[in-house]
Amino acid sequence: MKRSLLLIPVLCYGIFTLNAQKKGEDVIKNLDIKAESYGTIAQNIWDFAEMGYQEEKSSALLQKTLKDAGFTLKVGIADIPTAFIAEYGNGAPVIAVLGEYDALPGLSQQAVPEKKTAGKAAGHACGHHLFGTASMAAAIAVKDWMVANKIQGTIRFYGTPAEEGGSGKVYMVRAGLFNDVDVALHWHPGAQNAASAGAALANKSAKFRFHGISAHAAGSPEKGRSALDGVEAMDMMVNMMREHIPQEARIHYVITDGGKAPNVVPDFAEVYYYARHNNRKVVIDIFDRMV
Ligand SMILES: [Zn+2]
Repeated sequence: MKRSLLLIPVLCYGIFTLNAQKKGEDVIKNLDIKAESYGTIAQNIWDFAEMGYQEEKSSALLQKTLKDAGFTLKVGIADIPTAFIAEYGNGAPVIAVLGEYDALPGLSQQAVPEKKTAGKAAGHACGHHLFGTASMAAAIAVKDWMVANKIQGTIRFYGTPAEEGGSGKVYMVRAGLFNDVDVALHWHPGAQNAASAGAALANKSAKFRFHGISAHAAGSPEKGRSALDGVEAMDMMVNMMREHIPQEARIHYVITDGGKAPNVVPDFAEVYYYARHNNRKVVIDIFDRMV
């Protein structure tokens, strides 16, 4: 009697393990069946090549696919037109899958190994066309698995705009959109298929704007005050600062406006800075010193 009672859980466990393995295989099989249509979606987002906060077509395409798959949509969240949440199920646990779909400025590239511009303003150099599509595919695969196995809980796809500068997720976090999330899963296209235990760098960025007085640079230079001088002085001083910051820190910048013509003293100039380190406190310290 005792022995047969013991056998029941052992048998059940055996059947459960087999079933779980079978169901896991089903999830992969269903993903493989849809590989071509997901490939087309990724290719479309590659072709749209929309930059941060302008991902209208890319966002709409992912939204439509998720809606057709049975997800409920919340669009334009955190006052960002291209941000959205697609949700299935209810109650705990709440599992979030993050997807990005913005392109990089100036990287218009055809899908060939050599440099060949595609005649667009932007391009998907770091693979966010794959990122958004594959995260969406994962959310749909989990939803299908939940339906097939009557699983309780919530699966949520977060459409997160403007990762390439613009900090879309920061505004979404501030709006409380992650407050009830138990775990958020994330990936990024790369050269190998692996899980990484590494952390990303905290980043604080700003555009520093300088105002001067315009004048003809040859006719009356003594009347002008160059805003570009302000930018150059700042860059020189920040570069001197590099000796006195932790060596793992990163500071990078581009001059986004340095005037329009050499013979006009610029009355406006702008430089765009990032400060990064894996410790947020260090970033804030470096940033405050830059300011
Ligand atoms: Zn990226």
